[in-house]
Amino acid sequence: MVSSEYERRIAARFATFDQDGNGYIDRADFSTAAKALLAEFAVAARSDKGQALYAGAEAFWQGMAGIADRDGDQRITREEFVTGAVKRLRDNPERFAEIARPFLHAALDLADTEGRGTADVADTARVLRILGIPDDIALTAAASLDTDGDGRVGEAEIVPAFARYFTVPE
Ligand code: CA
Ligand code: CA
Ligand code: CA
Repeated sequence: MVSSEYERRIAARFATFDQDGNGYIDRADFSTAAKALLAEFAVAARSDKGQALYAGAEAFWQGMAGIADRDGDQRITREEFVTGAVKRLRDNPERFAEIARPFLHAALDLADTEGRGTADVADTARVLRILGIPDDIALTAAASLDTDGDGRVGEAEIVPAFARYFTVPE
């Protein structure tokens, strides 16, 4: 059934955003994700990388709220996600890439433990795991992001992949 598969995929995307699992997406989910990433890579919140990550998380939240929080209560319900975010992001994946980019850039920067401007596949998998990708597929997912096969993941690889993942085709 096309529709039930579609709904299952939407539910999975919603769950990825709803990091604390309380049934709606709000600013806390984004700051929770940022905090968890900093802990994973042992980076201080007050450092430049930490500040960039929090700023990226806030921009990501603001962008999502602008698209999906129709009643302006600072929460995105599942219904708002489905009727607002999913449809509008599908119509405009570039817009989604733009709102996610600062956060993804900062997350990759954390994962770039050697300071090379890109992150290796194993460190990228750590990011994906923290963001809720199941353990058993995180490494495969990270490897699949490395489209040029150099063993590392850069912003130009992760941003479009992320946008594709969330702009679920019907
Ligand atoms: Ca939540
Ligand atoms: Ca709302
Ligand atoms: Ca690569």
